[in-house]
This record gives sequence, structure tokens and C-alpha cells, in this order.
Amino acid sequence: MVLDVRTLAILSVAIYVLVAIAMAFLSYGNRDNPGLRDVAIGTMAIACGLLLVGMRGLGVPVAVSVVIGNGMMALGLAQVVAGLRHYFGRPRRWAGLLVPVVLLAATQAWFVLVDDDITWRTFAFSAAHVWLSLVFAAEFLRPAPDEVWPGPRLMVAASQLCHVGVSLWRGVTAATQGAPADLFSPVWFNAIVYIDGILIYMAFAIGMILVDGQRLQSRLARLAASDPLTGLANRRGFIDRVAAALPARSAILLLIDLDHFKAINDRFGHVAGDAVLVEAGHRFAALLRPEDSIARLGGEEFAWFMPDTTVEAGFALAERLRAGFADRPIVVDGREIDLRISIGVAAAPGDGLSWPDLYRVADERLYRAKREGRDRVVASAD
Ligand code: GH3
Ligand code: MG
Ligand code: MG
Repeated sequence: MVLDVRTLAILSVAIYVLVAIAMAFLSYGNRDNPGLRDVAIGTMAIACGLLLVGMRGLGVPVAVSVVIGNGMMALGLAQVVAGLRHYFGRPRRWAGLLVPVVLLAATQAWFVLVDDDITWRTFAFSAAHVWLSLVFAAEFLRPAPDEVWPGPRLMVAASQLCHVGVSLWRGVTAATQGAPADLFSPVWFNAIVYIDGILIYMAFAIGMILVDGQRLQSRLARLAASDPLTGLANRRGFIDRVAAALPARSAILLLIDLDHFKAINDRFGHVAGDAVLVEAGHRFAALLRPEDSIARLGGEEFAWFMPDTTVEAGFALAERLRAGFADRPIVVDGREIDLRISIGVAAAPGDGLSWPDLYRVADERLYRAKREGRDRVVASAD
């Protein structure tokens, strides 16, 4: 039994239209990235091309069906690939994508208008689809930004590679044994192209929705763990990282508080106060080692965690930080703001092995630094 080919053609148009609508919805939620808009429009173009091909013999002239229909399908596919490249943050590289489209349209036109030969039309169609599906698959074989796990992406790549296999088989079969004279005659050679087209695009649509869901999930996780003003980690993100690194053989926690910050707000205004917080964050980040974590815990209080660090090294870094502020005022809108900082230091394992223990000790020492006159580092109990 071979499924009715015209029915499959109609079904495939409906499915491509549905996927185009789904991609338009995804695109609506990603208005800062126009890549998905191209995917939606390209998919709609493929659906229109499929419709023209599927209407062959139903009032649509063969030449229009063959040249415009197949051309629109290939052009739509090229636009989808260009859109995907943009979505993944890569250059669109349109020129390379248009080569198979132009070659396909030219060969279809030749083999329908000059030398009407369905065998070579089928061969050219298959060759262009092998080409476009290989570049399509390549985009999904490369790691995607903000990926949680590669399963959905690799599912799309695998389905495109299956499509390459089917297209190769059709192209080689056409070249060696000839293609059926009627595109809709009930043979597997005709049915398979639609079944394959439907399945790969279903796999693509599902995969794309999952890939985009992962991207959203990663972005939300990043937002939830970061401080919007300074871009540093926030309390939640910092505690997660510190808890993951503890218990450690040796580690240092610095608790840093800006001195008399309220007075800076009162004198220069809150906007300048915000700029001071941002600049303080930059100064901390400039001294950050790759293995360290820093955060704005809240207000004008920052924390710095250093794994595998001795008390001496931790104290030296804290002192360097403090001196950096004392030596160089912060400049906001051309005005110099003299900012000092106080730091409490806690060290694992001596002061504790968990975040609450280290935090409590560092906080006590920070409080002492404040009481003893500010602009200082306190790293021990006495
Ligand atoms: P101390 O030396 O004892 O730490 O004095 P302080 O003035 O720095 O400390 P206090 O806790 O009295 O005041 C902290 C100030 O930080 C009060 C609050 O308005 C300000 N602040 C907290 N968060 C922000 C912020 O996001 N932006 C600005 N501009 N100010 C903030
Ligand atoms: Mg303060
Ligand atoms: Mg404070």
C-alpha cells in the first residue's frame, strides 16, 4: 500500500503553514532577535511552494508549478537557514545559500521549458536539497548559546541528515533508473518525499521550540542570579556558588561595605550614588581572579569569595582593594567622589566550613572595622 500522494501533498502544506504560525509565535516572544521572523516567513514560503507543486494538474501550469513552486521552496529553506544562523548569533551568509536556490531554479526551468525531463528535474531537486539540508544540519551540529543540554538540537540535526540520505537516494535512483513520469502516481518514490518533508519539519519545529525554551530558561536563571545595577552576581547567585565550593581546604570570604555611603547619596544624589556602586563593582571585577566569585549582596554591601586561598593572600588582596579606593577617588559626571571601604575577612577552615559560619564571622569583623574608624581591613578576632 502506498499512501495517496496528492493527499500527502495537501497535508504537508497544512503542516508547513502550522509550523510557520508556531515560528511566528516564537518570534513574537523574541522581538530582539529577528532570526525567528525569517524562519517563520521562510517556512510560509516553503508552504506556498509546496502548494504550487501540489496543485500541478489542478489548474496550475506545469512550468509555474515546477519553476516557481520548487524555487519558492528552496528560497524559503534558504531564508530559514539564514534566520537560524541569526538566531544562533552567527552571520547569515546569504550568498552561499542562494547558490543552490539559483541552480535549482535554473535547472528546473531548463528541464521543463527547454528539455522537458522529469528525471533530471528530480535529480536537480534532490541535489539542491542535499546541499541545503547539509547546511541546515550544520547549524544544529554546532553548540548553541545558552544551551542546557544538546538533545533537542541534535534531534534536529539528525532529522536533517536523514533528509540528506532520502534526497541522495531519490537523486541516485532518478539518475540510474529514471523518475516516475507523474509526480502523483502511487509509488513510494513519490510518497516518500512528502512523508520525509513532513517528518523533518515536525522534528525541526519541536526541536526549535525546545531549544528556544532552553534559551529562555538559561536567561531567566542568569537574570535571577545577577544584580541588575552592577551586573555582578546577586546574593542568591553568590550563595549558590559559595555553597557549591564549600567545604574547602582553604578559602577566604571578604565582606565589603562602602563607608558613609548614605552621605554620598545625600550630597550627590541617588543617581550619582548608583554610578558609584557601578564603578565600585568595576574596580572589584578588575582584580577578580578567574576562580573567584564576587557579588553585590544588597545595598552598598559586596562579597568576594576566594577558593584555595590562604589568610595572608586573602588579607593582601583585601588591603590592595581598600588602598585602591583610598588612593583614587571615583569620578562621576566630572565630580570627584572620595569613597572608602571597610572589609571583614573570614577564612575556612579556621573560621568555619559553611556559608553561614563564614558570613557571620566576616560580618562581625566588618562591624569591627566600622567601629574602629572605617577605611580598614579586619582579618582576625583581636
Ligand atoms: P557605614 O559607613 O556605616 O556603612 O555608613 P553608610 O552610610 O554606608 O551605611 P547605611 O547603612 O547607613 O546606609 C546605606 C545607604 O546605602 C542607605 C541607602 O539609601 C543606600 N543605598 C542602598 N542601596 C542603594 C542603591 O541601590 N542605590 C543608591 N544610590 N543607594 C543605595
Ligand atoms: Mg556602608
Ligand atoms: Mg551597609
